[in-house]
Amino acid sequence: MKSLRAIPSVDSLLNLPVMAALQEEYGHEWCLQAVRQVLDEVRSQAKSADNLPTEEEIVSRVRSLLISQSTPTLQPVINATGVVLHTNLGRAPLCQSALREVSRIGEAYSTLEYDLNKGQRSKRDVHAADLLIRLTGAEAALVVNNNAGAVMLALAALANRKKVAISRSQLVEIGGGFRIPEVMRLSGAKLVEIGTTNRTHIEDYETAIQEGASLVMLAHQSNFKIVGFTTSPSLTEITELAHKHDLPVLHDLGSGALIDPATFGLETELTVQDALLQGVDIVCFSGDKLLGGPQAGIIVGTAKLIDKIRRHAFYRALRADKLCLAALSATLLEYLKGSAVESIPVLGMLARKAPELKAQVEKWQNELAAGQVIQGESMIGGGSLPGQSLPTWLFAFKPKSAKQFSNRLRQLDIPIITRIEDDRVLLDPRTILPYQEAVLLSSLRAALSEEKNEKRP
Ligand SMILES: *Cc1c(COP(=O)(O)O)cnc(C)c1O
Repeated sequence: MKSLRAIPSVDSLLNLPVMAALQEEYGHEWCLQAVRQVLDEVRSQAKSADNLPTEEEIVSRVRSLLISQSTPTLQPVINATGVVLHTNLGRAPLCQSALREVSRIGEAYSTLEYDLNKGQRSKRDVHAADLLIRLTGAEAALVVNNNAGAVMLALAALANRKKVAISRSQLVEIGGGFRIPEVMRLSGAKLVEIGTTNRTHIEDYETAIQEGASLVMLAHQSNFKIVGFTTSPSLTEITELAHKHDLPVLHDLGSGALIDPATFGLETELTVQDALLQGVDIVCFSGDKLLGGPQAGIIVGTAKLIDKIRRHAFYRALRADKLCLAALSATLLEYLKGSAVESIPVLGMLARKAPELKAQVEKWQNELAAGQVIQGESMIGGGSLPGQSLPTWLFAFKPKSAKQFSNRLRQLDIPIITRIEDDRVLLDPRTILPYQEAVLLSSLRAALSEEKNEKRP
């Protein structure tokens, strides 16, 4: 057995010429830690193994360790799942103008809370507010970190220690632990459940109001659907009743469509504008679901209530940052200019039609000389439009092991995320961003040829 003394010292390794470049790139301290870690591993492994690694092998391990430690864990991926608002894959990709704004505002000082005319302090909420007001017809608007925060803040500001009436059919749990009853409790509001899971009548709201409810809340059933023997009053019935008793109505719209999804062949959906037209006083919705912008919680409604919400201490804790406001403003501008469907990736994906998708997959099949072109469904995802899908065409490939093949695609420099069905790996062109297609095809070509070579004994 070799003596452990043959293992080089920390200093002798750090003084090697090859280490100079690594220290230049990662700094002395980080290199020192990496060298120590690798040497510790070598020592503990050497106790049982006879062959110690060479100096070169140790340096190469140090280099690999530094590379893996410095690679951001947040990486862009190619979403070939066909789930348009994939929560785990970051929901909405940003439009080009939003990206430009993030870079323009992020690299310099900005007028985040500064009034150039007066030369003094101003409020950050002005930035996206005017655009939101113009788009939705609301009197006022406020932007916070995300929609969970928006709902929490609105309830805390408007209904702390007060009773809030909500239908049992709307006590939803959204992914990631957002449960309406819990958010209500945390906000200090007192939940008053009305109606039943499948049926809620206007009389149920009336009774709750007579029993002291001071706010009526509605929540979008984002990720489920109740079908069969169901009923619920119309939104205008509810808002008229609430207003007759001087109570505000708060609607957590969830995905917050500004364009009715019916435009894309999906079921019609209450838009933010329509909710306000039908008398809702406060509407909360996400910035990165159907709106297709950055993560944000948007609150629009009457000036009086928005002002009350803005003055609540939680607003300071939940407010949006400058990069979010920059990206959101740019995204909203696309709507105002009428260029949303062309410019905003999520909307463009929803708008794509089956024949065009089929042609794209046929092109892949041709270029790769592999796979099949089959019919399928793209999901909307992200807790929006439950159970709804859009017809699509898929590239289907049956490898030796679908699991191993899809795993290989996930380990690429630009990972490709796929679906597996019936031992086939499926790729949906709907969610591939145009600039990713060339990389997708060259990666697939390489993976397919590797698969072919492995098949030969
Ligand atoms: C998605 C959703 C939320 C949470 O929104 P985030 O932006 O993810 O915080 C809250 N309520 C409803 C109804 C939703 O669909």
